[in-house]
Formats: sequence, C-alpha cells, structure tokens
Amino acid sequence: SIEEDVDAPEDLQARAPIVTVMGHVDHGKTSLLDYIRKENVIAGESGGITQHIGAYGVTLEDGQKITFLDTPGHEAFTAMRARGAQVTDIAIIVVAADDDIMPQTKEAISHAQAASVPIVFAINKIDRPTANPDKIKEGLAGMNLLVEDWGGKIQSHDISAKTGQGINELLEKVLLEAELLELKANPDRLATGTVVEAFLDKGRGYVSTILVQSGTLEIGDYVLAGTCSGKVKAMQDERGKNIEKAGPATPISILGLDGAPQAGDKFNVLDDEREAKQIAAKRSQLQREQSVRTQRH
Ligand code: GDP
Repeated sequence: SIEEDVDAPEDLQARAPIVTVMGHVDHGKTSLLDYIRKENVIAGESGGITQHIGAYGVTLEDGQKITFLDTPGHEAFTAMRARGAQVTDIAIIVVAADDDIMPQTKEAISHAQAASVPIVFAINKIDRPTANPDKIKEGLAGMNLLVEDWGGKIQSHDISAKTGQGINELLEKVLLEAELLELKANPDRLATGTVVEAFLDKGRGYVSTILVQSGTLEIGDYVLAGTCSGKVKAMQDERGKNIEKAGPATPISILGLDGAPQAGDKFNVLDDEREAKQIAAKRSQLQREQSVRTQRH
C-alpha cells in the first residue's frame, strides 16, 4: 500500500531547497538558469551540467546545495500546482532592470503568493546602460513589496545573467531564505515525490525525470507514478552519471516505467509490483471513463 506522509521529527534531516525561476518573457529566466547550469562545478568535478532533464542540483563553494526546476516560466509552476504538486520552496522572480514590472511579473508574484512560496527578486540585465534597478524596486514598493534596499524584508539582488555579476550573491540570498524555512525530509523511507517531465526515447524507452521529495529511491524499487508503473532499471543524475540511490530534493531521470507520466504527477514506491500495476491500471480506467463522460457532454 501507499505509505502515509507522516514522519517522526527525529527522522527528519535538512534537505536542499527546490527553486523555480519565474518572470516576464525576455526578462532573462532561461539565461539565468543556463548560467547557473553551466557555471556550477561540484568540488573535484570539472565542467558544468550537460544534460537537460528538467531539473538540476548545484553545489555552491561552501558545500550548500540548491535544486532548480529547469523549466522557466509560471506555466510549469501552475501546471504542477493544478495537479496538486507542491514542489517549489522558493521562487526567484526575474525582472529586467531596463524594462518595467510587466503583466507576467505580476502574475508570477501572485502565483508565488497564492502558493505561500517566498520570493527572491533577481533584478536582471544590470550590465545594460539603460538599466535602472531602483525604478524596479520603487515599482515593487508601490505594490507593497518592499525589498531590503527599501527597508523591507523581501530579498532582492541586482544581477546580470549575461556576465554572471551578482549571481553568487543571489544564490546566497536564496539559501538564507531557505534557512528560515527549515526544510527537512526523512531519507529513510520509501521514496515519494513528483514527476517533472517524461518522454519516450527511441533507444531507451520511457525516460522520466522525477524529483524525490521524501525518502530514498533505489534501483529495483517499484514505482507508481500517475497512471504508469514499473521497476526502476537505471537512474541518472543531471550530469548523465549512473547512480544507485537518490535522496530528498534530488532530481533524477529514471528508466523502467511502462509509460510517460505527466508533469506534476506524484510518485510513490510500493513494496509490491503487482499492487503498483493494479493501482496504475485502475487510474487509467478512471481517466478513460472521465474522458468518455466529458466527450458526451
Ligand atoms: P526569458 O524569456 O525570460 O527566458 O529570457 P531569456 O533568458 O531568453 O532572455 C531574453 C533576452 O535577453 C536574450 O536575448 C538574452 O540574451 C538577453 N539577456 C538575458 N539576460 C541578460 C542580461 O543579464 N544582460 C543582457 N545584456 N542581456 C540579457
């Protein structure tokens, strides 16, 4: 059966924050995620992250970790929320300093607020001669969002996703915010988490990127994800490295599911392969019945 989500306090251990990047189109979300992905080098390991699996983890120089959802924009955020997935701990909202607070900036802010997710503002493109970060901060103040420079409590940092200026400091502020949240999870239980993306690969079959949120996923585990199930045959991290197990806040791509679950589907590990198959089959049947019903209407 599916294990309940209750853990004794003594079983909980600190975990990395999971961060989503949102903001208006062209304000630099993709550039920021690309910069962090390329520049991050884990101690002793050279080169940036080469795989694009929908999420990645970075380790800062001081050893602290952050997990990024690598799908910029609030569509992914809202799609996941619509499926009941609470994945994001902190939202970085990117605002271009040579532009204004735009409609999608406001939407991103209200999505984060509706989900009670703390915001860290990244005031981007400060390398541009026409950049005016103060104008942006004033605009935020006008929306009752007082950033630190303006005597408020909301974190913000001026950055350039092009030159990298300010990005380390931005990430430090994300970690400060994370500290306040006291994020914890129990690594010693059957894994649960959320599907980030999934697709059918010609050579490898169904590849699903999942984010372990609680527990530890191991090769050989029976996974139930939405209407799909299967035994985990292989796991890879965002560097394409094969791994044997993955703990809380770790994004990994897995092989072995019998289909492609949807982004935002929850996954569980069950003791029994047959039970996982039965539940998945029941869910598919329910979905088919529902779609027949909506077609009739
Ligand atoms: P997104 O739509 O929010 O993902 O924005 P992109 O990351 O695609 O950036 C939009 C455009 O702005 C691209 O042409 C980027 O090269 C450019 N851009 C992004 N960040 C910066 C920056 O910090 N400085 C400058 N000069 N250009 C930037």
